[in-house]
Amino acid sequence: MKFQRLRLLGFKSFCESTDFLIEPGLTGVVGPNGCGKSNLVEALRWVMGENSYKNMRGSGMDDVIFSGGGSRAARNVAEVGLVLDNSDRAAPAAFNDAETLEVTRRIERESGSTYRVNGREVRAKDVQLLFADASTGARSPALVRQGQIGEIISAKPQARRRILEEAAGVAGLHSRRHEAELR
Ligand code: ATP
Ligand code: MG
Repeated sequence: MKFQRLRLLGFKSFCESTDFLIEPGLTGVVGPNGCGKSNLVEALRWVMGENSYKNMRGSGMDDVIFSGGGSRAARNVAEVGLVLDNSDRAAPAAFNDAETLEVTRRIERESGSTYRVNGREVRAKDVQLLFADASTGARSPALVRQGQIGEIISAKPQARRRILEEAAGVAGLHSRRHEAELR
């Protein structure tokens, strides 16, 4: 499953609508301190279903919404869209009828998040499973936060096991089993 583009609107420092094309091969993001490089990676993490505001360097979920700066007023809505190439039909059956998938997450101040896949409203869990099956996702070890290497080294064995399970691609199975046990 390949990322094709990332679209941000009102997310953290990305006040205006910003569209990144992600070409095949290696992509580098460079820029001065504070220009938004980490915010960009957090947008990826967020659209894939991150539900811990601490992992987004915030003190509440609404902190991802542009809070104003310079001459610009704060916004009340943030939205991130991620377009995936699904030509290899790797997506779970429920979403597997399209060549590309656009996953969007939108948050309104004090109203929480909604998720859509190709315009159809889905649960956070559906989005998390979509990415967990592709061995990526909000908690994937492939997304390494600034300062996280040190945390992995000093993690307790249980926490380190979860990281290894994500890397081995069995994390999606765990959450499915958990859902089945709840029924
Ligand atoms: P470094 O090279 O130091 O790691 P960076 O390019 O990773 O920098 P980020 O951490 O992505 O920079 O961006 C930080 C900037 O984003 C800060 O200027 C901060 O004020 C701004 N920012 C974060 N959240 C919001 C928000 N909700 N609204 C507006 N601006 C925000
Ligand atoms: Mg950074």
